[in-house]
Amino acid sequence: MVVPSETLRCVAQPMACTIPETVFYGSFMKSILVIGGGSSGVELARALDDIGLDVTLVTRNSTFFWAIGALRAAVEPAWVRQLFIPYDTLMRRGRVVTGTVTSLTDREATLADGMVLGFDVAVIATGSEVPFPAWPTTGMVAEAEAEYSALATRIETARLVAIIGGGPVGIELAGEIAGAHPGKAVTLLEASETLVGRYTSTQFGASLKRKLVRSGVTVLTGVAVVSALDETPVRLADGRVIEADLVLNATGGRPNTEFLRPGLGDVLDPAGRVIVEPTMRVRDHPALYAMGDVVANDEPKTAIVANAHARVVAKNILAWSRGEAPRAMHRAKTRALMLVPLGKTGGAAHLPVLGGIVLGDFAGRMKGRDLFVSRAWAKLRAVMPETGSGGT
Ligand SMILES: Cc1cc2nc3c(=O)[nH]c(=O)nc-3n(C[C@H](O)[C@H](O)[C@H](O)COP(=O)(O)OP(=O)(O)OC[C@H]3O[C@@H](n4cnc5c(N)ncnc54)[C@H](O)[C@@H]3O)c2cc1C
Repeated sequence: MVVPSETLRCVAQPMACTIPETVFYGSFMKSILVIGGGSSGVELARALDDIGLDVTLVTRNSTFFWAIGALRAAVEPAWVRQLFIPYDTLMRRGRVVTGTVTSLTDREATLADGMVLGFDVAVIATGSEVPFPAWPTTGMVAEAEAEYSALATRIETARLVAIIGGGPVGIELAGEIAGAHPGKAVTLLEASETLVGRYTSTQFGASLKRKLVRSGVTVLTGVAVVSALDETPVRLADGRVIEADLVLNATGGRPNTEFLRPGLGDVLDPAGRVIVEPTMRVRDHPALYAMGDVVANDEPKTAIVANAHARVVAKNILAWSRGEAPRAMHRAKTRALMLVPLGKTGGAAHLPVLGGIVLGDFAGRMKGRDLFVSRAWAKLRAVMPETGSGGT
């Protein structure tokens, strides 16, 4: 539930009331602060709330965004409306605070508006900053729709579209464009020799490459782009020039952890990811956990892995609430479970068994049909309206 409690009202209007500078929600119970209301954040907040613990979820935007469904909006802008999901029904007792955490210590989190949230345990789940169009640049539904509409028009009118980055996002984006605009010249550029990345078998990348080529996409692997990621034409390190009217950046995200640098710079690895113990506790900081894309483990950055982290953190926080030591451990996954749709009817899946099993179009279709949007609404215990909901 989003609870505009008296305390929250006071925090929102600090001049109107006298309250301590640092707010502790749930003062009769140990208080848990989850930072970031994305895939793993909502999973954990809901699980802890369900078992009766006191949870505050603080997150940047007032509505959850289902990034897994985002790329279809590049060709069907109205699609984005249903990807914004209210947090109202997520928790029964806990609360969701809209705000951006700008610094964190072992005891409190400071938000951009000056609000300070105290906690007994905090969980860092701030995910990745991903470039548009994989994630809108705004948390507001109308603005996001306008942003995707403008892109859809540019894609429609472009003669040549180049996509930089042959990971799952670049592949899925190429598939959406090829599916919606058969015959459109689309070039996918990837720096390594195989598509998708190192947590899947080479057969998986090869299978997706074959399917893309069959749908008219030109796939160039082993090419290093040296021009800016939105610049036309695209210049390659070997001197080649790839003509394009529109260049789309699908090179992946960077972790949202800058806010940790002032107080907790010691927890970050050189890539800016949080170093955790197998219990998902932040190294040398017993009151802090981290999960999801921000974690420094060498494993796929996927919602599937993020949710596996959340389950371990939930067990360990439950143990802590009973005065026990954290015992649940996460073993980093070296192989990914992955479904990559190519438009609404094709794609492939990679199963992380026997070195990686590749399944064909029917598996891609499982995700491609609705990009799991209805599952996202169920995850937040929200009822999906016909026309989606608005964010603020
Ligand atoms: C286009 C696309 C398709 C994908 N498809 C799949 C798929 O099919 N399967 C799969 O398993 N994975 C997929 N992924 C990956 C998956 O979305 C991520 O791995 C997953 O969302 C990571 O979860 P998380 O909880 O770490 O962070 P996120 O889900 O990224 O959530 C982080 C949250 O923290 C908030 N936040 C950030 N900074 C702050 C701050 N300072 N203060 C407060 N809040 C903050 C953000 O606004 C966001 O709500 C896809 C990703 C993209 C972009």
